[in-house]
Order: sequence, then C-alpha cells, then structure tokens
Amino acid sequence: MTAPVTPPTRRGICPALTAPMATGDGLLVRLVPADGWLTLDQMKGLADAARAHGNGIIEITAKGSVQLRGLTEQSVGPLNAAVNALGITPRTGLPVDVSPLSGIDAQEVVDARLLAARLHDMAADLLPRLGAKVSVVVDGGGALSLDAFKTDVRLVARPMKGAQTKGEKTWDVWLAGDAARALPFGAARGRDAPELVRSLLERLAALGPSARMADALPPAPAVPPRPMREASPIGLFALKDGTFACGVGLPFGALHADDLDVLAAAARTAGARDLRPAPDHGLLATGLTPQAADGFRATAQALGCLISVDDPRRFVAACPGAPACASAHIPARALAPQVAQALAEVLDGSLSVHVSACTKGCAHPAPAHLTLVGLAADAMDNRVALVREGRAGDATRPLLAAEALIPALARLGGALAAARRPGESAGETLARLPPAALEPFLLESAVLEFTR
Ligand code: SF4
Repeated sequence: MTAPVTPPTRRGICPALTAPMATGDGLLVRLVPADGWLTLDQMKGLADAARAHGNGIIEITAKGSVQLRGLTEQSVGPLNAAVNALGITPRTGLPVDVSPLSGIDAQEVVDARLLAARLHDMAADLLPRLGAKVSVVVDGGGALSLDAFKTDVRLVARPMKGAQTKGEKTWDVWLAGDAARALPFGAARGRDAPELVRSLLERLAALGPSARMADALPPAPAVPPRPMREASPIGLFALKDGTFACGVGLPFGALHADDLDVLAAAARTAGARDLRPAPDHGLLATGLTPQAADGFRATAQALGCLISVDDPRRFVAACPGAPACASAHIPARALAPQVAQALAEVLDGSLSVHVSACTKGCAHPAPAHLTLVGLAADAMDNRVALVREGRAGDATRPLLAAEALIPALARLGGALAAARRPGESAGETLARLPPAALEPFLLESAVLEFTR
C-alpha cells in the first residue's frame, strides 16, 4: 500500500512520515523523534534509509524536525518499515515543542517534558477540530530558548527564588506568535496549566480547523517587538550530570547521508550518548567532555558544518535547487555559500537572506529581508529576481543572470556596510533605504549614494 501524497501546493500540511509531500525532487517526509533524540545506531540507520529509499539528503529544519528527500511512492512504505525497525517513534498528535535538551540542561528552570506530555495527551480528542499547524511551546527556561517558534500557545517557566516548592512551578502564558510579538495571557501554576491550555485549545477548536490563535484574539495595538533570547544550538552546553552537549549547524540545514555517517561515527568516538536534532538546523551530541567535544566539532567543521554562531551561513536559507529539484531555475544551495560570503560583512543576525530556486520558496516560507529567486526568462533558466521584505512567491521579474549574482551581492554588501551608522545593525541600515534603492546595485556597478 502506498501512502497518500500531499500535493506541493497545499499549504498548512506537514509532510509527516505517513503523508509525504510532493516536491520537485520527489517526495519529502518529515519526522520528529517522539523522545527528542536518536541513538547513534538510529542515526546511522536513518542515514542508511535515506540512501536506500530517498536521494540521501537529510535535512534538519528551523524547528528541529528531520526531513528525508527524494523518495518515491514505492519507497515510502519501505522507509516507514526501516524507521520502525530502528525503534524510532515519530511524534504524532498535537505538536508540543520543548527544547531538545529538556530534562538534562543544567540551566533549565524545569524539565518541560512532563507538562508537554500531559498537554499532548489532553488535546488528543480536540485534534480533528484543530488546524494542522496549531502547536504549543513549553519552554522550560533552558539554554536553548524556543523564542523564535511561532506558536499558538506558549508556556515559559518563570525562574523563582526562595519559597517555591519542588514541583510547583509557575508558567507565563503567551498567545499567538513568536516571543517577540505574542500576547501576554497571564500566568498559571503548574497544576493549573493543563486545564488552562485545554480551555484555550477548545476556544480555537470552536472556530474551526483553519483557525489559529491570532484569529481568536481581539485586534491588539501595535507594540514594538520584544527582544528574543539567542537560540542557536551551536556551541557547548552544560548538562546536569557534569557533561556537555556539543551543537553544530548543518550547512543550509542539510547533509548527505554519507557525511552524516561520518558525523555519527565522530560522535561515537567522542563517547556521545545520543544525537539530538535541534532548532535552527542544529544537531547536538550529548554526554561529552570538553576535550571530546573538540574532536566532534573538528569533524563537523571538516564536513562543512557550522561550528560558530558568527558563521554568516546561519542567516542564509537555501533550497536544494538545481540539479536536485526539477522545478529549479538556479543551483540555490550551491550558490548559497557564495551568497553568505559576499554578504558576510552585513550578516550580523539582523538580516535574513533566502535563496530560492523557484517561486515556491520551500526553504523559507516566511518573508525574508532579501530573497533571491530563480526564474525563467525568454525560455532560459538561470535568471534571478530580488524580493525585498517578502516571499519567493512575490518575485515578478528577473533582474540578472545567476552568473552575475555574487559580484552584485558583494557590491551591495560593501555599500550597506559602508553606510552603517555607529551602533546600527545592518537590518536598520537596510530599512533606511528607499524601496527601489537596491535594484541598480544588483544590475550594474553603480555607486549608490547612501546617507549616513
Ligand atoms: S523552492 Fe527549491 S526545492 Fe522547492 S520546489 Fe522550488 S526549486 Fe524545488
């Protein structure tokens, strides 16, 4: 029996293991390990399965889900069987996200997993009436914040001093959006939180399966976004048992199974307990000494993984592009390292860049500050459009040939850097520019007059 396939145009549907999504390079399946981690043998087995049943590309998404690409209708069943045989239990039901280090993080206020499991079970009967993208975040206050997750209900453990008794935690409750824009909804003691969340989800269910929490809220006055906590999984994180987790980033969120084999072997050599997919395209090896982490990190770096939070590639999203994807007009992922290099001076975390090989925009469905989109023009591929503050689907007309892209971006990056005022982020500099100011720069070596 073959699994039902979700057409590529149907938004709001998650390409779960049992409902693969059609993409330009075959079927894509998404998997979130229910436990939040994979043993080293499971990771090796998953790499084998990606090679045997897909095109060998394994991705970790911005939310820390694992994706396998390039499957066929015939290979989805065997992939499911392989995942089952590996003892990997995919998460099902209401997505309740916690930090991948929940329960072992030395910094956390509380182990978020218990409350998350309760909320997951409690919402089971509401699922048929909730939208496919409705989710809850339970943030235990550890080193890896989930502030960037856009969610319907967010619970954040509040650090309390003194009189708080063990097991009696207070959760701040926020509704609709990421931590910068969510609406505060008060606080709940640990024992009251499940009922509160249940009542919020019931309100949502009553609005129908397309509703999100923002639809259930009265219009709120615009307020400046709150600062969000750094969430990169790259680095060394202290664990409760005195060991460390070492996190690295997958280049543009993807690694070939052959490289994942090498990385898993390095984790084994380093004495890692497990590997944990993490938000922001990360992978964490847990249970390491700092010395062992150095070895793991060195192997990751040799494989092209990100080992520094300052790596400009962190701020560039790119889809597989040509030749992997049949819909592609440009080699997006092959161009992406050069894009990051060309703009390195201004990729300070305030600018997001998206390289999309067609207008579908798989790698970054949300708007980005700068989106470079592959288009066909005059029956020729290899043309690139620029979208400012928008999505790949907003691209209208091609500006330049892909071969001219990197020198053009280098000019643009240099000009933005030169125009920065003291203390100003690159995003703020870009925001000062009039909407039409960028195009001439990409088209030719024009010297733009920026106002300091
Ligand atoms: S955005 Fe990229 S991966 Fe997605 S369909 Fe277009 S070319 Fe393929």
